[in-house]
Amino acid sequence: MPAVKPKSKPRPEVLPGVRHPMEKYLRTDRLPHIWCSGCGLGIALSSFLYAIEELGIDPNKVAVVSGIGCSGRFAGYVKMDSYHTTHGRAIPFAVGLKLANPDLNVVVFSGDGDLFAIGGNHFIHAARRNADITVLCVNNFNYGMTGGQLGPTTPPEARTTTSPYGNFEHPFNLVYLAASAGATYVARWTTLHARRLKESIKEALQHPGFNFIEIISPCPTNFGRRNRLRDALDEMRYYADKAVIQHGVDPAGAEVVPGKEFIVGKFVDVRKPTYLELYRKKTEELAARFG
Ligand code: SF4
Repeated sequence: MPAVKPKSKPRPEVLPGVRHPMEKYLRTDRLPHIWCSGCGLGIALSSFLYAIEELGIDPNKVAVVSGIGCSGRFAGYVKMDSYHTTHGRAIPFAVGLKLANPDLNVVVFSGDGDLFAIGGNHFIHAARRNADITVLCVNNFNYGMTGGQLGPTTPPEARTTTSPYGNFEHPFNLVYLAASAGATYVARWTTLHARRLKESIKEALQHPGFNFIEIISPCPTNFGRRNRLRDALDEMRYYADKAVIQHGVDPAGAEVVPGKEFIVGKFVDVRKPTYLELYRKKTEELAARFG
């Protein structure tokens, strides 16, 4: 007897009659999403979708690749070709996709823990090669999905479930790491700067080579409540008080230090041969030499 396929549940209407303006890019059968109230991930996702809309990019020509964690859900919510990959491996999946289909606009959407802990080596080598992908990293300074553990960007003295007396490790400065590894477009915004973030994503999507945007984002459930930013809007108020917009600053001096002002803006925007361009040049040279 053939197996009976279970019927998918109808989508509950959260606010009757209200639709998300970017709904055409969302897999609405996956909604409501799993993200907590006050989380910044929805703003990050909307900024990306508005960027796609305003650039008029055919969503059939976009592939979204995510790793593991709360940010890993991006891949499941966008109505585009998307891959929810294994932990830390979003970048090699993305590079493979781009090599197999260079016409695709390949976007990695993942978190600080996924991209810079287990995935750190993939990140630096994709940047070094100037691989033709855009990496959007939502940085909420901890491992949110698994309970709020210390991660590679947790600031000094910040409290997490694994640093209850304050973090004593040195964190990564992501924009400096990306720039020194060879990324050709590097920017940082917060989810408070939604319009500037959207414009930056538009620039990155049109910029050849390895593009990196750090998106500083609230995690009230795990990071905020352990660090005196208990209410959902507290982290956004913190960004309003402390973020200073400056472009062209040396990323080496752009650390995010608790209680101090930090720089947001565009750090790097340069052009150099991309991995695909160099790969094609070499294969043409070899074809001419060996026939
Ligand atoms: Fe967002 Fe943090 Fe909740 Fe994850 S745990 S959905 S990052 S608020």
